[in-house]
Amino acid sequence: MSAPPPIPTLPSLEAHWMPFTANRAFKRAPRLLVSAKGMHYTAADGRQILDGTAGLWCVNAGHAREPIVHAIANATARLDYAPGFQIGHPGSFELAGRLAEILPADVDHVFFTNSGSEAVDTALKIALAYFQARGEPKRARFVGRQRAYHGVGFGGISIGGLENNKKAFAAQLLPLVDHLPHTHDLGQNAFSHGQPMWGAELADALETIIAQRGADTIAAVIVEPVAGSTGVLVPPKGYLERLRALCDKHGILLIFDEVITGFGRLGAPFAAQALSVVPDMITCAKGITNGAVPMGAVAVRRGIYETVVDPAPAGIELFHGYTYSGHPIATAAGLAALDVYRADGLFDRARELAPIWERAVHGLRGLPHVIDLRNLGLMAAIELEPRAGAPGARGFELFVDCFQRGALVRVTGDVVAMSPPLIISQEQIEQLMETLAQGLKRLA
Ligand code: PLP
Repeated sequence: MSAPPPIPTLPSLEAHWMPFTANRAFKRAPRLLVSAKGMHYTAADGRQILDGTAGLWCVNAGHAREPIVHAIANATARLDYAPGFQIGHPGSFELAGRLAEILPADVDHVFFTNSGSEAVDTALKIALAYFQARGEPKRARFVGRQRAYHGVGFGGISIGGLENNKKAFAAQLLPLVDHLPHTHDLGQNAFSHGQPMWGAELADALETIIAQRGADTIAAVIVEPVAGSTGVLVPPKGYLERLRALCDKHGILLIFDEVITGFGRLGAPFAAQALSVVPDMITCAKGITNGAVPMGAVAVRRGIYETVVDPAPAGIELFHGYTYSGHPIATAAGLAALDVYRADGLFDRARELAPIWERAVHGLRGLPHVIDLRNLGLMAAIELEPRAGAPGARGFELFVDCFQRGALVRVTGDVVAMSPPLIISQEQIEQLMETLAQGLKRLA
């Protein structure tokens, strides 16, 4: 046995205002990670924590993969930064080309951002620019969905459907937005294995919005193929197909936010392929670099790129971009991540593991407080009966219990979500479920 890693001296926690965190409670009882390798984190007290969430849905190839580590180190030494406006470096072009090879159909032009939130806001802006270029400037409305998470930019929270994420900022949200109903209904689809059979008709709510607003005012519909952060809401069979057909019928762009589902999570490069529905744009991030360097991207159908770029007067065609769009270190990490995904056959591995994962997840049925189990690809959620008068308390206690007993899961309210690295072994799947099962039995 190798010696446990040294326990570091911890800094004061006061100055850092942490994101999406109960800062006061965390600083009283912190959970700190100090290193990671493969399927495990090491906590500050030296404990090994099995990663049941691929970090934050991003470390699909497992932690600290050598080719990615080396690519980042080499890129930093070779070209630490290059401006991306009116000048370029080969890495961003190479990565865009490599992404085009694994993207569906003619979704083959790529705009780089630094995060999923920026990818979403970029996609919304591209949709507006596209209809301007087509001479249809009236098409300026967006349709999102309840319980959707599209990041935290003003665009993303406006089209998103999480009230907590909006309430302090409600005075300045995007004005022209409607929301489809979400597809989660415990009465109809609790304990579904994979895609629920009920709910395709919920897509028809788009018809109602179209009738009310006029199709010629709607630019785009945006959905997560599987809503992730809001608790793994799996699309009913036929639902995405119906949305696609309605968008086609009315000339509306369909955007898939694949920040979570991209890069193998559902056993194919993107959910678009796993679920056989091709959108007009795909937003992605996270797994694009295996989480190692911040990066996001928007991939668009060739016709969208050509409509905006080809007829534009000489000069800049789209007034949009970030200082770090296509950053050389991120593109190097992205290329190395794609190499690892391919060399290890990880997208196929996720597809092969999915039935084993499904069986293991549904093995938790009947344990205390469990009111739903759902899964698709290597994603899953356990929904708990909320404790009377304290919604979210049970979910959070289970998350803390698992962390203390060596497994990382993710919690949103009373839903515990799992999305392990695609390298997880069958034994590790069993270990994860056993930790959850023990935790569920201990919960009040
Ligand atoms: N879109 C989806 C579907 C996401 O799940 C997330 C993050 O989890 C985002 C957008 C935002 O990405 P980021 O946190 O990189 O801004």
